[in-house]
Amino acid sequence: MEKIKMTTPLVEMDGDEMTRILWKEIKDELICPYVDLKTEYYDLGLVHREETGDQVTVDAANANKKYGVAVKCATITPNAQRVEEYHLSRMWKSPNGTIRAILDGTVFRAPIMVRGISPVVRTWKQPITIARHAFGDVYRATEYRVPGPGKAELLFTGADGTTFRETVNDFDGPGVLQGQFNKDSSISSFARACFQYAVDTRQDLWFSTKDTISKQYDHTFKDLFQEIYDAEYREKFEALGIEYFYTLIDDAVARVIRSKGGFIWACKNYDGDVMSDMVSTAFGSLAMMTSVLVSPDGNYEYEAAHGTVTRHYYKYLKGEETSTNPVATLFAWTGALRKRGELDGIDGLVRFAGALERATIDTIESGVMTGDLCSLWEGENPARKVTSLQFLREIRARLDKALA
Ligand code: NAP
Ligand code: MG
Repeated sequence: MEKIKMTTPLVEMDGDEMTRILWKEIKDELICPYVDLKTEYYDLGLVHREETGDQVTVDAANANKKYGVAVKCATITPNAQRVEEYHLSRMWKSPNGTIRAILDGTVFRAPIMVRGISPVVRTWKQPITIARHAFGDVYRATEYRVPGPGKAELLFTGADGTTFRETVNDFDGPGVLQGQFNKDSSISSFARACFQYAVDTRQDLWFSTKDTISKQYDHTFKDLFQEIYDAEYREKFEALGIEYFYTLIDDAVARVIRSKGGFIWACKNYDGDVMSDMVSTAFGSLAMMTSVLVSPDGNYEYEAAHGTVTRHYYKYLKGEETSTNPVATLFAWTGALRKRGELDGIDGLVRFAGALERATIDTIESGVMTGDLCSLWEGENPARKVTSLQFLREIRARLDKALA
């Protein structure tokens, strides 16, 4: 078979530890034999971030903006212990945080479903994608531990000097106080990313807040979503036969549990943090989850939702074969290749991404899987636990059959 040609490079962001090992094995076994891979390579491994003063992360994010599509390996976010372990000159920031700040994105996470591993919620037949706003609210709040009696006020001073002042509470004793904010510009780009993702994946979009209680704050989210939907997306949704649906968060939670799945659930920052953990756990595991950052001007960054799997890496360094699940990292590659194929009109690349995903799911459904999935397995054949590399080779055998 002739290798599939690419026209535009993918931005390749390499990473750390066990996922860095899987990264190379995935490329060697499942991508490079089939695709004449064109990438612009950025090494976001902690060693190279240190060598470049973290400039490599900024350069990689800018390359993502230039070319549109990136694939990222999991990376270490340094803490005090890592500063020692890697002899770092500084406690570098989270690469994901740096990339998000440059791309201004929304994170979409969806479970990868296989027969034989069923969701805890038995009505769920299709994946539920969580779209999490990743800016502001409680994550950027100002907090104060009120020591004793006193008056708390909300004060805004406009650039033109006009002021707004209202009493929050007259404290008769100690308590707590918090000031949150968000910006119309960020909420609007969140809304556009969600609507665009619904169009791209042809799924309904649900959005929920607590607007009945929060009549200014949450209501602004609701209003901006509705305005943008009416002005920019209603026609596109109607043409595709998909729906935009707003409801109160309490109602959304009840409906999600009773649903069949197969839609996107857009959540404010805190709701998305909590609900994505609930949804991913109920579907199976973080290693069976796709994750993509979508920016409002149409840039995509595909990654795995889990970390660098440090515990397995230390075993690997001792020469042990590990059974680390490569599926989320592999699907980051197929997601990126498919998107590149769609943008550049290369059908062969789109088909290849689909065939590789299918071969991966077939492998697990046949009972061959990594250790983490064995305990979840309830298929007919007993599960056969294999190492990561054996698993990739099992996928390759099925892929070759499918492509022949
Ligand atoms: P983690 O790497 O996700 O691993 C936590 C545990 O989850 C593992 O020890 C393993 O459990 C299980 N696990 C996760 N992914 C797995 C996979 N693919 N296959 C099999 N088991 C898997 O989280 P962490 O240990 O908290 O973090 C390690 C490093 O990753 C940290 O330095 C952190 O900064 C970084 N991190 C990066 C990202 C990112 O780049 N997106 C996200 C989160 C964390 P068992 O050990 O029980 O087998
Ligand atoms: Mg969380």
